[in-house]
Amino acid sequence: MPKVSEFDRFGIENMSKEEYEERQRYVLKNCLCPGCPTYVEGDYPYGYCFPPIGTSRKIMHEKECICETCSVYSEYELNHTFYCTRCSQLCQTYKQEVPAGHE
Ligand code: SF4
Ligand code: SF4
Repeated sequence: MPKVSEFDRFGIENMSKEEYEERQRYVLKNCLCPGCPTYVEGDYPYGYCFPPIGTSRKIMHEKECICETCSVYSEYELNHTFYCTRCSQLCQTYKQEVPAGHE
């Protein structure tokens, strides 16, 4: 099985609770989701790319994803989209890698 650290872009695996909370605050501060056509007003926390925030409980329909224009996306070299419906960067990469037979 692939190791989490191989695609843990946010480096959460070895973070202390304080470091994790600080990084989460940073992601939320810079997250563009509230201005996205897919976003449903009032859903919180956004920053869906950041594990383990999880997918949205309110967003049911994908319209457009503006993650690729977000500073968090480029800073952490993310490469997926629709984190609100499809799960976090770590989760989507894991799903992609496991069927690829990287064991
Ligand atoms: S990449 Fe997407 S989900 Fe992550 S902080 Fe930016 S807009 Fe939000
Ligand atoms: S993850 Fe992408 S599609 Fe979902 S609300 Fe954020 S920017 Fe929009």
